[in-house]
Amino acid sequence: MSEPYAELRDALRDLCGRFPAAYHRSHAQEGTFPDAFIRALTEAGWLSVMIPEEYGGAGLGLAEASVVMEEINRAGGNAGHCHGQMYNMGTLLRHGSREQKERYLPAIAAGELRLQSMAVTEPTTGSDTTRLRTVAEKRGDHYVVRGQKVFISRVEHSDLMILLARTTPLSEVARKSEGLSVFLVDLHEARRNGLEIRPIPNMAGHETAELFFDELPIPASALIGEEGRGFRYILDGLNAERTLIAAECIGDGHWFIGKATAYAGERVVFDRPIGQNQGVQFPIARAFVNVEAANLMRFEACRLFDAHLPCGAQANMAKLLASEASWEAANVCLQTFGGFGFATEYDVERKFRETRLYQIAPVSTNLILSYVAEHVLGLPRSF
Ligand SMILES: Cc1cc2nc3c(=O)[nH]c(=O)nc-3n(C[C@H](O)[C@H](O)[C@H](O)COP(=O)(O)OP(=O)(O)OC[C@H]3O[C@@H](n4cnc5c(N)ncnc54)[C@H](O)[C@@H]3O)c2cc1C
Repeated sequence: MSEPYAELRDALRDLCGRFPAAYHRSHAQEGTFPDAFIRALTEAGWLSVMIPEEYGGAGLGLAEASVVMEEINRAGGNAGHCHGQMYNMGTLLRHGSREQKERYLPAIAAGELRLQSMAVTEPTTGSDTTRLRTVAEKRGDHYVVRGQKVFISRVEHSDLMILLARTTPLSEVARKSEGLSVFLVDLHEARRNGLEIRPIPNMAGHETAELFFDELPIPASALIGEEGRGFRYILDGLNAERTLIAAECIGDGHWFIGKATAYAGERVVFDRPIGQNQGVQFPIARAFVNVEAANLMRFEACRLFDAHLPCGAQANMAKLLASEASWEAANVCLQTFGGFGFATEYDVERKFRETRLYQIAPVSTNLILSYVAEHVLGLPRSF
C-alpha cells in the first residue's frame, strides 16, 4: 500500500535502521535512557520539525511530526522517550510571547535545550484535571508554586517543563476550567529551589516521576499567555499529544503486524506454515484493517490541527481507535508467536507492554468516550 510522506519516511528509516531492536531491548532491560538514539534524532532535526523556520526549525506541521513518531515505533523503538518535545511545542508556539519564542525556540531547534516534559496529572485528582490542586500564587514579580504532580515523564532528560497550576481558587471562578495557568519552568533552577523529583519504576519503560513543589519561586515571565486561561492553551497541546500518540500506536500496530506476518510465514508446524491456517491469518488481517482505519482518523486530526480548526473530537477519536488497534495487533502478534512471544529476544513482549500504556495515558479510553458522549453528541454531563 502506498503511504503518504514517503521521502520523510525513507530518511527516518535510514536513521532508525542504525539503532536495531537489540539496542532498544537492552535499554529497556537495563532501564536506561536511549541517549544516543535521541541525540541522533535531535541532531538530524527531527525533534524540531514543528518549530517555524524563522526560529531554526523545519516549519512543518503536526502531520509530519506524527510521521516522525510513527516511524520510531514502527522501527521497534519507543517514541515515548522523546514525544514530549513535539506536543509541548504546540503550547509554546501558539500561545507563548514573541520574547519567549525568541529566547527558547532557537535553542530547542539547535538541540541545546530540551522541552520534553508537561506536568498536568496529580495524585489526588487524576482524570479530573480542572480540579487539580497545585497552586501558583503571585507575589510581586514572581509566582510561588506548591503542590504535587504524578507520572510526569522525562523530567530527568529535559531542561524545561510546561506546568499547569491553579492561579485563582476554584471557589472564585464561574467555570472550573477557568483560573488555571500555564508556566514554562526551568527544571535546573527549580531543582535548586524547591522541586523534588522521585522516579516511578513502571512496566512501560517510561521515565516518569512524582514531583513535589515546596514553595518553588518561578519568575512572572515564565507565565505563558494570559493568567487564568491556561486550560485553553494546554488543550492545543493535549490535542497534538493525542494525535501524536495515535501515530505512535499506528507505528506499533504496523510493527506487530509485520512481525506476526513474517513469523506466520516462516514457522512450520503440522508440515505447513502456521500462516496457512485461516485461524492464524484472519486475526492478523483484522488487526491490519483496524490499524489502517485508525490511521485515517489520525490524518484527519492532523489536517484539522494544522489548519487551526477545532480538532478535539478527531484527536480523541484517533487516540482511542489507534490505541485499541495497536493493542489488538499486539495480542495477535503474541498469539502468533506462541511461546516464543514470551522470550525477550523477539521484542514482542517489550512492545506489548509499551503499547498497552496508550489506553490509559495521556487520557484513558473512558474519558474519551465521555468526551464524545457529552461534548460531541450532547448527552447529559455525568461529572
Ligand atoms: C507511564 C506514564 C506516563 C505518564 N506521563 C504523564 C506526563 O508526562 N504528564 C502528565 O501530566 N501525566 C502523565 N501521565 C498520567 C496519565 O495521563 C494518567 O495516568 C491518566 O490520565 C489517567 O489518570 P489516573 O491515572 O489518575 O487515573 P484515574 O483518573 O484515577 O482513573 C482510573 C480509571 O478510572 C476510570 N475513570 C475515572 N473517572 C471515570 C468516570 N467519571 N467515568 C468512567 N471512568 C472513569 C479511568 O478511565 C481509568 O481507567 C502518565 C501516566 C503513565 C502511566
